[in-house]
Amino acid sequence: MIEQSILEITSDLSTANNIVIVPHKGPDGDAIGSSLAMYHFLKGKGHDVTVIAPNDYPDFLKWLPGQEDIMIFEKDYMLCKPLIANADIIFTLDFNDLSRTGDMQDSLIEAEATFIMIDHHPEPSTYAHHTYSDATMSSTCQMVYQFIDKLRAVKSITPEIATCLYTGIMTDTGSFRFRSTSSETHKVIADLIKRGADNAKIHQQIYDTSSESRLKLLGVALQNLRVNKELRTAYITLSQEELDQNNFRKGDTEGFVNYGLSLEGIIFAAIFIEHKVDGIIKISFRSKGSFNVNQFSRAHFQGGGHINAAGGKSDISLEDTIVKFNSVLPEYKEDLGL
Ligand code: 5GP
Ligand code: MN
Repeated sequence: MIEQSILEITSDLSTANNIVIVPHKGPDGDAIGSSLAMYHFLKGKGHDVTVIAPNDYPDFLKWLPGQEDIMIFEKDYMLCKPLIANADIIFTLDFNDLSRTGDMQDSLIEAEATFIMIDHHPEPSTYAHHTYSDATMSSTCQMVYQFIDKLRAVKSITPEIATCLYTGIMTDTGSFRFRSTSSETHKVIADLIKRGADNAKIHQQIYDTSSESRLKLLGVALQNLRVNKELRTAYITLSQEELDQNNFRKGDTEGFVNYGLSLEGIIFAAIFIEHKVDGIIKISFRSKGSFNVNQFSRAHFQGGGHINAAGGKSDISLEDTIVKFNSVLPEYKEDLGL
């Protein structure tokens, strides 16, 4: 983000009363963490700020400071629409295209606010007046820290802000182990701990609060694991019936896809989860090394994401989706094969 943009944003902020912050649909730790960090930061500067998430988020994030103030567009659109229409500035965080906000997209397109995008996904769209996009960044939370730093306001980072930013960096880097974790990431993390993020407590709140039924569901997922050694691929399926039998709650399947990648020799992992209400199969893809799951998902499963982590969907049955997946895999033999 060039200095000129920072000067313009500083000027825009100096006159803005109403600010809306929007994460992507199906918000994860980075989307909610960055939104809440920005919320606390801007509220601290005296603005009237609202975080509006397109839909609900997992229970394991429902302890983050300020999360009780988040509005859910899907539930409260009659209240959310005027807030969006009257916003002076709208921050869009952790996504690169307005379509990632689902049904909220139309309200955002109509809004007259100044848009500021902060995001680490490749190939950003051009809807924003100010675009801070960097696909080499570990997380949007790291970028929000750096945004605050560029505004020369790191001293305003409270323990609440530090907690939200730490959470998003931790969840998006698989606890600081993915390739996107740089020495700069660790410097940011060190400073966040200094400013009040309780690392052990945050880890516990996110990873050690599973229900018994979530662990049972993991058991089912692992039973369903299929491995294609030749194409170094592993995938998991979960049907609606299996979810129902194990009291599925939003967020319960978070991280399941990584078990496929934990196998020796496997470089591509996927999980296919049936959502009967929406009539879709929601898919997560993960890879090790140079196999680009963003491209794979864009090409075959209406999705996208990053090189090593992407999502997508399919409108055909779970069985047919698996048939399709297995039939396109051999096209990638050169990238996947030994
Ligand atoms: P997850 O598999 O955890 O849902 O998502 C992995 C990554 O892919 C995240 O960065 C997420 O934002 C992105 N992603 C997930 N679903 C979609 C999708 O449908 N479209 C696009 N463009 N990105 C997605
Ligand atoms: Mn992210």
